[in-house]
Amino acid sequence: MNLEHLKKLLTTFGPSGREEKIRNTIIELIKDHVDGYKVDKVGNLIAWKEGKGENKKRILLDAHMDQIGFVVTHVDKNGFLRVEPVGGILPQVIYGSRLNFDGITGIVGIEKESRESFEKNLKEMSFDNLYVDVMGQASKVPVGTFGIYDSHPVFENNLVASLALDDRVGCEILVECLISDERPYNDLYTLFAVQEEHSLLGAAVGGFEVDPDLAIAVDVTDSADVPKANKRVSMIIGKGPTIKVKDSMSVSNPKVVDFLKKVAEKHDIEYQLEVLPFGGTDAYSLERVKNGIPTAAISIPTRYIHTPSEVCSLNDVEKAITLVRAVVNEEVVL
Ligand SMILES: [Zn+2]
Repeated sequence: MNLEHLKKLLTTFGPSGREEKIRNTIIELIKDHVDGYKVDKVGNLIAWKEGKGENKKRILLDAHMDQIGFVVTHVDKNGFLRVEPVGGILPQVIYGSRLNFDGITGIVGIEKESRESFEKNLKEMSFDNLYVDVMGQASKVPVGTFGIYDSHPVFENNLVASLALDDRVGCEILVECLISDERPYNDLYTLFAVQEEHSLLGAAVGGFEVDPDLAIAVDVTDSADVPKANKRVSMIIGKGPTIKVKDSMSVSNPKVVDFLKKVAEKHDIEYQLEVLPFGGTDAYSLERVKNGIPTAAISIPTRYIHTPSEVCSLNDVEKAITLVRAVVNEEVVL
């Protein structure tokens, strides 16, 4: 893993539907190390490296480059904004915090006309009773302007707290796999997908375009190592990346799951099996395009997903890089 690359990926602006800056950041990191890359009509970045293997297959690694965010829906006559989430954001997570409209700072306030309504609004927090104060800069953030959390990465004890670990850690894993000097055994295609958080659009279009023999979505998953975490979740931080068996939107192809387990065991890479009782990833889109791409997912256990401070282990990210590198160098038998 490269910490400078990770920091750059975590701090580049790119809410769903507005991925231009993060796409350019990734292109800068990879362009001198790949056989080719293209930006498709929806804004996906697809980069590839030809394999050297005699029995090579085409492997697609996917990570979504968009992050959750906000879009301005209304600006009142005094310059206060109303916003709508882009992707899954709870209103409770943003009250009192700062947002970043690509350089313009907003503070999230709540309506409180009377003591009674203030208490009611706190209890029933919603985007209807929250507003955003941009300190006199309303003319720069008209309706349709996109924003993200205003937060920054903190590194401690091999853990990182940051906005957008979902899914910039996935992007970092793909970047490090691509820029390795080694020529892969299989043909390696990487898809830095748009709009996962909004509609899983990018993976559907990119998967159709690449038409691989198998696909692996690399993303974050829940972590059950905090007080009163979900009792039905087993994944925890620091015990290696997870090989997904199922989430609420897709069941991983069992042959791809077995292949990933085999590669991890052969190379002594610590991993966990993942069943997530909620959520979904780009795997949902990948497995239903063309004639059904055999798809699974590799995830990084992460605390506080979709908040301004998601937390994961750098050791897990490192092991995931080792795992995907081993996967692209292994003869695929499904
Ligand atoms: Zn997400």
